[in-house]
Amino acid sequence: MLNKQFKNGIKFKCQGSSNCCVSHGQNGYVYLSLKDAIRIAKYLKLNIDEFKKDYCEYTDGYLHLKEIKKNGECRFLSEKKCTIYKDRPTQCRTWPFWKENMKVKEWNINIIKFCPGIGKGNKVSLSKIKKIIKYDLNNEMEIINEKK
Ligand code: SF4
Repeated sequence: MLNKQFKNGIKFKCQGSSNCCVSHGQNGYVYLSLKDAIRIAKYLKLNIDEFKKDYCEYTDGYLHLKEIKKNGECRFLSEKKCTIYKDRPTQCRTWPFWKENMKVKEWNINIIKFCPGIGKGNKVSLSKIKKIIKYDLNNEMEIINEKK
């Protein structure tokens, strides 16, 4: 159940800060469902095993993008742009509307500060936000079920 703060929707438009493309430790990993991995591998013209070997690793059994840049930037980030944007992982598509972000305190203290896209652009309606949250949760369930 979303707080009434969100009932009229939220303005959001990505400002290209790339803040959400920089890792902040284990919680900052870009986790991948198998569907995500297959889609990105296809884009990179790799088979799934090649993609996993070159671009991914497992932490606690969960598949995620390998972090190679010392500054924590995603390896697909180049000049503040995602180089696989059209096929980017679900986790990246659903930001900032993740269930864990939509707690009033978390949203008002951390997420708003972290993401300059919040409060910009057109309003995302409550029903759309709910759909995005559901889409993200379904993806998360797939990732959990695919745990090694
Ligand atoms: S895959 Fe693209 S959108 Fe996702 S974190 Fe990496 S650069 Fe950012």
